[in-house]
Amino acid sequence: MSLLEIDRLNIRYGEQVAVADLSFAVETGESVGLVGESGSGKSQTALAILGLLPRSATISGAIRLAGRDILGASEKVLDEVRARRVAMVFQDPMQALNPYLQIGQALCQILSTHGLASGAAVRARVIEMLRRVGLADAERQFRAYPHQLSGGMRQRVMIASALLGEPELLVADEPTTALDVTVQAQILELLEEVRDNTALLLITHDLGIVAGRCERMLVLERGRLVEEGLTTSVFSEPKHRHTQTLIAAAPRLDRGAMLAPVEAENILEIHDAEVSYAERGHGQLKAVQQLSVAVRAGETVAIVGESGSGKSSLVRAALGLVPLRAGQVVFCGAALANTVQSRAAAVRSDLQLVFQDPVGSLNPQMQVHAIVAEPLRVHAPGLSRAEQVDAILDKVGLDDSFLTRYPHELSGGQAQRVAIARALIMQPRVLICDEAVAALDGSVRKQILELLRDVQRETGLAILFITHDLAVVRAISHRVLVMYLGRLVELAASEALFTRARHPYTQALLRAVPVPDPTAAGGYASLSGEPPSIISPPGGCAFHPRCVHAKNICTTTRPSTRVVDDVTVACHRADELLQPH
Ligand code: SF4
Repeated sequence: MSLLEIDRLNIRYGEQVAVADLSFAVETGESVGLVGESGSGKSQTALAILGLLPRSATISGAIRLAGRDILGASEKVLDEVRARRVAMVFQDPMQALNPYLQIGQALCQILSTHGLASGAAVRARVIEMLRRVGLADAERQFRAYPHQLSGGMRQRVMIASALLGEPELLVADEPTTALDVTVQAQILELLEEVRDNTALLLITHDLGIVAGRCERMLVLERGRLVEEGLTTSVFSEPKHRHTQTLIAAAPRLDRGAMLAPVEAENILEIHDAEVSYAERGHGQLKAVQQLSVAVRAGETVAIVGESGSGKSSLVRAALGLVPLRAGQVVFCGAALANTVQSRAAAVRSDLQLVFQDPVGSLNPQMQVHAIVAEPLRVHAPGLSRAEQVDAILDKVGLDDSFLTRYPHELSGGQAQRVAIARALIMQPRVLICDEAVAALDGSVRKQILELLRDVQRETGLAILFITHDLAVVRAISHRVLVMYLGRLVELAASEALFTRARHPYTQALLRAVPVPDPTAAGGYASLSGEPPSIISPPGGCAFHPRCVHAKNICTTTRPSTRVVDDVTVACHRADELLQPH
């Protein structure tokens, strides 16, 4: 008898089918990956196992836990299941944790409410669990509120709360999607370490994670199971067309040609930029410090770094959306005013921005044709709009039928095409993309990146591309800027960065990326610790508390930026620490 058996599960919302005839099993202690693009039914399946689907769902089939059908069971039975047998780790721990409760109180409540411990044993068990999930100083963190913890620490707390009842099955739904790549590797390692004999159903869109962490995998497409098997077999010989597409679209750091450097004039230059914000009780928070970078016509410069590294502050300063405290932005050889309001309209239309959340960045009350034409009304009221809108929509691959749609009638990929069309209609010289493909599935992401490359080849567009995804960086960029706590740590041609990174932080970022290949030697490795607070950065080299190569000088003296073999790098040991990949 299997630990979990899903038998011909169907989930519908009215006429809409979310899951169709789904059957699979999970055995005691094994790890199974459930993969698919958004809308494939992964999360619906997870919620059904936990009995958490909304009342509007019509469900049929069976979900058996150790032989007992729990589909349609009473709340009392489901409570028991959720307390002791099946636990869930969600994507966003901030939403799953009660913001008004100290995390220790919240975890104690789980134990007391379900009668899992009583008296002094409750607190002791919670503190022991917090230690087990790697929360340093567990006694103190017991009294912390969720908002006082970083994303990675909150996810550790979620895992602690899930494991308190010693469940037989842990369902983790995209548990690392909201985390930086280095913290993601830590959390995945933790899940592996702490689950003992608990079975793991890992739901993810990231094939790299499944390849490194799951013995078996299941592939869903539009609610249907299209392939199932040992992870090594599915990767080596994918049988279904959809699995083949997913594997082919999975971004990889170790494959594919890289773009050669572009020889052209600088279009946009940022010199010695300093950006800071007033932080109540902490004086000035220095988001960007002494940073210089330029982008050439027809070139893409990717900007990478963990959350809080200052990537967005840098590009917002370039756009004049936040003022520079020091430094200068130069566009086509001329220094620009510090704020967007004081810049000429022609300059404003030459620098365009595309955001991460495509649907949220479009006015929900406007149809696509009006959204795309909006910048023309603002910047070039005399031009004929209809023809230009038609032409630009055609360029981004949307036909006439999209003209009268509203944003809510668009998929994520279509909405991002509209956002790109709106940015491109003014024929800008520079496009700034802030995590513009982060919310998109693999195949759609690939299409959008190809679209940007086509436009760049045709028009010589310069692109500054912020992303936390190094595989995207490899696919799209000519050069890469790596930032850490507001400073440049490495700036190099893509080929140099991906084959022989100089800075230990860049090396650690590259090692932390999951490889979508279960046979890859060594898998991936995490970087210890989380980025320190930008409010009180460490002295000397800010990376020294996490750097495996740190020496005494690193704790006292900040490394200056210098050029070593055409690579701009800030590390005392850059000459010695060349790492081939
Ligand atoms: Fe590591 Fe020192 Fe280089 Fe900083 S300066 S990255 S601590 S070796």
